Amino acid sequence: LLQVSGLSKFFGEVPVLDRIDLSVQPGEIVMIVGPSGAGKSTLLRCINRIEHPSEGTVLIENVNMAGEMRNGKLVPDSSVTTARKRRRVGMVFQRFNLFGHLSAVDNVAIGLKRVLGVKSAEAKARADKELARVRMSPHAAKRPSQLSGGQQQRVAIARAMAMQPTLMLFDEPTSALDPELVGEVLEVIRSLAQDGMTMLVVTHEMQFARDVGTRILFMDAGRIVEDTSPETFFTNPSHSRAREFLQRSL
Ligand code: ATP
Ligand code: MG
Repeated sequence: LLQVSGLSKFFGEVPVLDRIDLSVQPGEIVMIVGPSGAGKSTLLRCINRIEHPSEGTVLIENVNMAGEMRNGKLVPDSSVTTARKRRRVGMVFQRFNLFGHLSAVDNVAIGLKRVLGVKSAEAKARADKELARVRMSPHAAKRPSQLSGGQQQRVAIARAMAMQPTLMLFDEPTSALDPELVGEVLEVIRSLAQDGMTMLVVTHEMQFARDVGTRILFMDAGRIVEDTSPETFFTNPSHSRAREFLQRSL
């Protein structure tokens, strides 16, 4: 489903991502862990092209996210084509970027209407369905300021899911939340995982990574240094950096 090859990202001279290779099959729940500055967010941002990779390719369902190959040369996409391709990748950030002036249901429906051109009534019906899935139906009419952080994050997940992505990316979806609100958001992500959604989740919630992940990537200094099962990662990681990281995190 996802194929990342030779992906590098430089900010100036320094490689933040250093020749990353990664394949993800449908249904995999890939947990990405590692120290601050390892390049975890940059990897997600390069996958959905908020950020442009310096080198390498990202294929999603065999579609190159950068452009079309013609006669062995890459012809870059227009901004319209880039936007169309990015729609297949849902992303949820640490901070819930909801529109403050819109209700929860309108926050979910707006992308359907604006980006996909879905008619208002149908967009509303689909938004209601997505809000039900994240157990936010009772709060559909409220604005973000009337919702807790955990509720806002669940709306953000519903909004991403409404676009029917083939891949979901989560970048520390609970680290801006008060501790008592973390559980409800993790529960929602867990239920998407159980429904078979393919996802990459950057997280510091080690117990969650262990329980829900089908695979753990440990990143350090722009590289994936460990790529293994949760069982192996948490009981017997092969790299000293991963062992040190675990000692500090558990
Ligand atoms: P954290 O756990 O703190 O979120 P991370 O693993 O997500 O860390 P990234 O945000 O991907 O790390 O950043 C990796 C490195 O790239 C850091 O050293 C950061 O300072 C640098 N970096 C990220 N974005 C930019 C940018 N736009 N310009 C310059 N440097 C950047
Ligand atoms: Mg980050």
